[in-house]
Amino acid sequence: MLELEQAVDQILAAIPQPIAESIDLKQAHGRIAAESIAAPIDLPLFDNSSVDGYAVRAADVAAATSENPVRLRLIGRVAAGESFAGELTSSASVRLFTGSPLPRGADAVVMQEDTRMESAEAREVLVCDPVRPWENVRFRGEDVKRGAGLVDRGEALTLGRIGLLAATGVKQVRVNARPTVGLLATGSELREPGATLAPGQIYESNRLTLAPAIQQTGGIARCYPIVPDTPEDTRRALELAFKECEVVVTCGGVSVGELDFVKSAFESLGGRLEFWKVAIKPGRPFVFGRWREKFLFGLPGNPISAFVTFLLLVRPALARWQGAANVGLQSHPADLTEALANPGERRHFMRVTVDPEGRVKSAGIQASHILSSAALANGLVDVPPRTTLAAGETVRVLRWE
Ligand code: AMP
Ligand code: MG
Repeated sequence: MLELEQAVDQILAAIPQPIAESIDLKQAHGRIAAESIAAPIDLPLFDNSSVDGYAVRAADVAAATSENPVRLRLIGRVAAGESFAGELTSSASVRLFTGSPLPRGADAVVMQEDTRMESAEAREVLVCDPVRPWENVRFRGEDVKRGAGLVDRGEALTLGRIGLLAATGVKQVRVNARPTVGLLATGSELREPGATLAPGQIYESNRLTLAPAIQQTGGIARCYPIVPDTPEDTRRALELAFKECEVVVTCGGVSVGELDFVKSAFESLGGRLEFWKVAIKPGRPFVFGRWREKFLFGLPGNPISAFVTFLLLVRPALARWQGAANVGLQSHPADLTEALANPGERRHFMRVTVDPEGRVKSAGIQASHILSSAALANGLVDVPPRTTLAAGETVRVLRWE
């Protein structure tokens, strides 16, 4: 049986090189940069005011006080979007607003609150407080210098990075294509939500969890109808999904029961099974297979097993498909408030609840059909075989949201 890390390495090694495409920055949130992006301009692009106020020469107002204000001639007004053609000379000032370009000759901006006007139409402003040279000035290039790296290849275009790219005038970005992921649920007992259940039937729930999980990872999820447990239905469903998608994720039908047809149907189509067991709990039966340049991930049917194997084994593959540098789940340390015990022979990825202070505890019953504990959980902790992690120990919590 493969260790998790071996299984992930084997999967990642099989994933082809990403395919780059150009898209509008408007559509780029969450996409993975196909190439590094350098700043096309300085940011800010020009020295400008950080306040509403008056451009001055700091030396002119060094002695200003409220009782003895310094009188400066008003020689212009620069609204946002305008610029001052002339040069600021001694004893003069230019009315500015936040973001107005600093006129040539000025070396500071006095805040409006530190000035008085004798009338609204006055041609002079009275400065009541001194300013230090360059006070209230935002400098050209202080945020980003032209040519500086904004985003590296393989990085995700987060909200913050998109704002930065937009501010430097980037309109199109090169990102990697997203995989289309077909999602099949197998099981003759499964019914669509809303259906009336006959005895022995249950509602299908895995596709509703996995489709958004696929989307969250950047894949384009495509859900197929429920597949009854027959070799023909399974084969037909796989054939269609492989025709339409680059990656196929199935759930159920990968154990050793006589009604588990995913592996045999896949092989009958000409697919090659790479491995079908990973030493983790939940989720031992897990199939990874290749069909031409396409991939099969056969997840176990138990909802928790399907979800955990998706996070640990499929998610990295979808991320690597898009050329992501970082393919693992985010994780952070947290302190156990109670023991987590794994008496079993396989690593157990236990559902936990971690609070904002970094205290973590079991989310409840850990059996792989128990959904209520999954609903409470916001993380997983990898508990080694035959190990009890004691209360007070610091553990790493894997997060998916
Ligand atoms: P299997 O892996 O097909 O043996 O299924 C294991 C368990 O998970 C059985 O109790 C199934 O009824 C259940 N199960 C399988 N697929 C799903 C699904 N898509 N939604 C909800 N439960 C499922
Ligand atoms: Mg089944």
